[in-house]
Amino acid sequence: QLGLMKALKDVSAKTTDGQKITLVANISEAADMDLVFENGGEGVGLLRSELLFMGRESMPTEDEQFEFYKKVALKSQNKPVTIRTIDIGGDKHLPYFNLPKEQNPFLGYRAIRISLDRKELFLTQLKAILRASVFGDLRIMFPMISHVQEVRDAKKVLEMAKVELAEANIDFKPDIEVGIMIEVPSAAVMADMLAKEVDFFSIGTNDLVQYTLAVDRLNDKVSNLYDPFNPAVLRLISYVIEQGHEHHLHVSMCGELAADPLATLLLIGMDLREFSMSAISIPMIKNAIIKCSFLDAKVVFERVKRMSDSEEIKAYLRTMIP
Ligand code: PEP
Ligand code: MG
Repeated sequence: QLGLMKALKDVSAKTTDGQKITLVANISEAADMDLVFENGGEGVGLLRSELLFMGRESMPTEDEQFEFYKKVALKSQNKPVTIRTIDIGGDKHLPYFNLPKEQNPFLGYRAIRISLDRKELFLTQLKAILRASVFGDLRIMFPMISHVQEVRDAKKVLEMAKVELAEANIDFKPDIEVGIMIEVPSAAVMADMLAKEVDFFSIGTNDLVQYTLAVDRLNDKVSNLYDPFNPAVLRLISYVIEQGHEHHLHVSMCGELAADPLATLLLIGMDLREFSMSAISIPMIKNAIIKCSFLDAKVVFERVKRMSDSEEIKAYLRTMIP
């Protein structure tokens, strides 16, 4: 692991036939930034901002949040850092937040739904990110988008945040890039329409798998059904990548599938060009990428498209790993 990390740190993640793949990291804290660069990461594809809100007695203030995002920005060496607005609810709770007990928390009051309902909280977070945006290449990402209007509503709040900062003469980057997580099947199906609203997509396979297959990702009883190689999931992923590129968006993947070497060739064949994962997984995936040919990957994807069963797909991919 350490050997691979050192050997590949300065190697560019390119296929044997020259397709450049961007490898970025999923992080939760500013301190993680060192690990990103040690492992050859080229930025942050997902900053899960929840951690900043968890393990404390009250909501962090705008200034506290600003200091956190600024610290991340200053450590980022001017590489892109995608900050996801809070994704609480589901399995993540906040003691001071009084979330209602729900029968189906993963189908309930969660992520962007909370942000759009509690606008002052959302506005505060967006202002803090905007203020930090002058210290690095920050981008904003909304989680759990399930329909187009949610994106429009979220962007309206972002505009309000900009107006408030401008009126107070506070500096920010006015054209900060805005993207969404594609992690709900309805969003994947509507990728063509959603693409018109944003600058980038990031595919969250952890939730996309659980929602597409109706399998709770934390329930051992059904975990055998939780399978990112299920062809229904793969169809959604490839559609999102295709539509994203069709509309000139950059498309990333930040779910666990991005860190699975069995999937690397197939995802490259779908023309995914950015993978985001825990920093320590980067050398392993880079090692997989530099052995792949883009042309072969496309052939593999064409073959997989005609398969109806995930076991067949995985068995085939095992034989194709270069
Ligand atoms: C995902 O759903 O794939 C994802 C990256 O988000 P999280 O794991 O934080 O829900
Ligand atoms: Mg998710």
